[in-house]
Amino acid sequence: MQKERKLIIAGNWKMNKTVAEAIDLVTDVKLSLASVKEVDIVVCPPYTALGEVSKVILHSNIRLGAQNMSEQNSGAYTGEIAAGMLKEFSVRYVILGHSERRQYQKESDELISKKALAAHLASLKPIICVGELLADRESGNTEKVLETQVRGSLAGLSKEQMEETTLAYEPVWAIGTGRTASAAQAQEAHAFIRGLVGKLFDETIARRVRIQYGGSVKGSNARELMSQPDVDGALVGGASLETRSFADIIKNSI
Ligand code: PEP
Repeated sequence: MQKERKLIIAGNWKMNKTVAEAIDLVTDVKLSLASVKEVDIVVCPPYTALGEVSKVILHSNIRLGAQNMSEQNSGAYTGEIAAGMLKEFSVRYVILGHSERRQYQKESDELISKKALAAHLASLKPIICVGELLADRESGNTEKVLETQVRGSLAGLSKEQMEETTLAYEPVWAIGTGRTASAAQAQEAHAFIRGLVGKLFDETIARRVRIQYGGSVKGSNARELMSQPDVDGALVGGASLETRSFADIIKNSI
């Protein structure tokens, strides 16, 4: 399918896969998707598997992403990982502000914007997640919530940095629930977010920025979602844990 922006499809493995399992999965994914040129393919394993996964995908069409990072560069921050440490494994992308981190680690938009700035300073490309709760949608507050998250998470980014940022619209009620936003719901939210980027930065950047959809994406719904004009890829959780389901999403999106 002909798209205005190159699709970017990323697999977020979350807290799954030992190093051995990660090597098996990424080896298989690499073989299965070796001929794909139309999509930027990203895998985001847990930190512990970054080093080995990085070796497997060297010289391939698959890029490496991390699932989080610290806003700090180094120092007394027990348990944290800095952008510079991710760079050692040739990480190119980093997911920031995933709803699970907003929910369980209480990450705020302000913290996410600091992480985004730290990522850019290390030449990592952030994938910044936003999305409303079911209660927000049901009370008619989806746009209000998205606007707060987009404004807050992108605060302080320069135009150049924004161009190197990917956004992911992930309605929280669709993550890991098997319940997907309809293509029309996704398109409406993506168009709203793109309009906001236009207001906050400029129209050229808004036209260039890629916005992924995330929330129970599968091979069977990928084509319809990706055919929406403002949907530029997917952030995939559960279906990225097996080669077949991840590859189906990518092949059905082309
Ligand atoms: C996610 O966690 O980003 C996600 C979209 O998960 P799932 O595909 O499992 O809904």
